[in-house]
Amino acid sequence: MKKQIKSKWQPMNPDLVMYNGKIVTVDNDFSITEAIAIKDNRIYGVGLSSDMKNLSGEKTELIDLNGATVLPGINDAHCHLNGFGLERPPFLVDLAYPLIKSLEDIRKTTAAKIAEVGIGKWISGWGWDRGFLAEFKDKPQSWPTRYDIDPVSPDNPVVYSEFSGHTCLVNSKVLEIAGINRDTPNPENGIIQRDASGEPTGILFETAAGMMRELVPPPTEAERKTGILNAMAELNSLGITCVTEPGLNADQIRIYTNLYNQGKFTLRVNCMVMGGPSLNAVKQILDNVGTCTGFGNEWLRISGLKLLADGIPPSKTAFMYEDYLGGGHGKLLVDGKTDEERYDMLISMIKYANARDFQVGIHVTGDRGIDACVDGYIAALAEHPWDARHYTIHTDYVTLKCMKRMAKHNIGANIQSAIKWTIGNLMVGIVGEKRAAYHWPLKSLFDAGVRVSNSSDASVTYPDWRQGVESAVLRKDKATGNVLGAYECISVEQAIRSYTINGAWQDHQDNVRGSIEVGKLADFTIIGDDILSIDPNRIHEIPVLYTIVDGKIVYKNLKY
Ligand SMILES: [Zn+2]
Repeated sequence: MKKQIKSKWQPMNPDLVMYNGKIVTVDNDFSITEAIAIKDNRIYGVGLSSDMKNLSGEKTELIDLNGATVLPGINDAHCHLNGFGLERPPFLVDLAYPLIKSLEDIRKTTAAKIAEVGIGKWISGWGWDRGFLAEFKDKPQSWPTRYDIDPVSPDNPVVYSEFSGHTCLVNSKVLEIAGINRDTPNPENGIIQRDASGEPTGILFETAAGMMRELVPPPTEAERKTGILNAMAELNSLGITCVTEPGLNADQIRIYTNLYNQGKFTLRVNCMVMGGPSLNAVKQILDNVGTCTGFGNEWLRISGLKLLADGIPPSKTAFMYEDYLGGGHGKLLVDGKTDEERYDMLISMIKYANARDFQVGIHVTGDRGIDACVDGYIAALAEHPWDARHYTIHTDYVTLKCMKRMAKHNIGANIQSAIKWTIGNLMVGIVGEKRAAYHWPLKSLFDAGVRVSNSSDASVTYPDWRQGVESAVLRKDKATGNVLGAYECISVEQAIRSYTINGAWQDHQDNVRGSIEVGKLADFTIIGDDILSIDPNRIHEIPVLYTIVDGKIVYKNLKY
């Protein structure tokens, strides 16, 4: 692909020329230039303002960027878009900071929602975080209970997911409907938390939390579509042009396809098919899907298979070599009775998907879990080699040794720097200071040559890539401002790569997007400050001016 202006024999008249800007191309040399010409949905020229303006004809629209910075369209490489749409008002109660700062706020919000929808109706909410509830300031390791919300919800079942999605708080009404009491055993890979006397507290972890969410009557088809379109519009307003949507079932892919067919897309969506916890489950799902990585087009495509290998560090369910403070080291969350059986099961699942030409992305956070996944990828590729670009999702505690293996075998790392910002200090009480500092070793990953893609994991964090860049560069904790592991800070340039070309690489799309180069898709994020020179503490404040997808403006900031 050529970077320079096309020669004279080619047709002129680009549709749009944007000039007088700072164009951060994110090409191999990270070169910076002034102007872009667009024809149809592609980049037609990149270069100096005078040269690009010279290309324009009668029908060319000219936009003076007035010094604004243009980035390749921002790519959120792990974003539960359809979930995010349904996990926000008007569908769900927003329980996230800064709206919610205490249990008292949760009670008030719950009472208001019940007044709105009526007695007896199910109430769902998303996003509470102990780290930001006033009552837990001095006891960050304890949990809220059903008795904290029962007084305002005696007759409405209430299911409130924690920001991580791995934990739920429910009220007594829900336990009553679910028939959960002191005699109910924990489900496989889930925990019903109990107090000293053995009574369920209303806090449920992992599969037990999922069971609570499944009790809530599902949204209608119209609500699901509205949720996706709301989410697309909100992401466009943040400058996002593309997402990887992890863990969809066949019906969710159908809804996306339906919206695409209606011409409603304003954001590119790479779908990961959701796998299951055993080889049989994976076989059944992939055989039913009947296609493989790459099916679709540049707007909507099947990118890979999502698997789940362990839990998350804050819940002490990540599979670690070294114990958590207070004991325990997690385990693989696939079928099997022993660590060895579960390891073998995971490897067989990866091998099967790889042989079916499916890229595999695995949710895995603990160092021991990550090693197991990478073992599986390397073994699978040895049997059936192809440009799979398998990757680990989250990758929290990847070891230095493992990074080298990942780089050697072209295995990517998907990370979430904004989760580090959210839970940074909380981790000190889970794994101690040293491991809390090492948590998400981004600089080491880049130094090892691993392709690092960045993402929000929305709704785990709000899908604001600016906060993600800032957090990757500063590694500050949201609640305290403490810097955790300064030695793993990356540069703004590296953080931008993680949100553009590296995400495109992850999804086998770096040949058509991820950088501003001639011939690539015309996806741009135009921002009002120079992200490369601004004080990094202010990156999250940079205004998004325009978002352009496929050559069309999908968001324009009316304040500028
Ligand atoms: Zn996720």
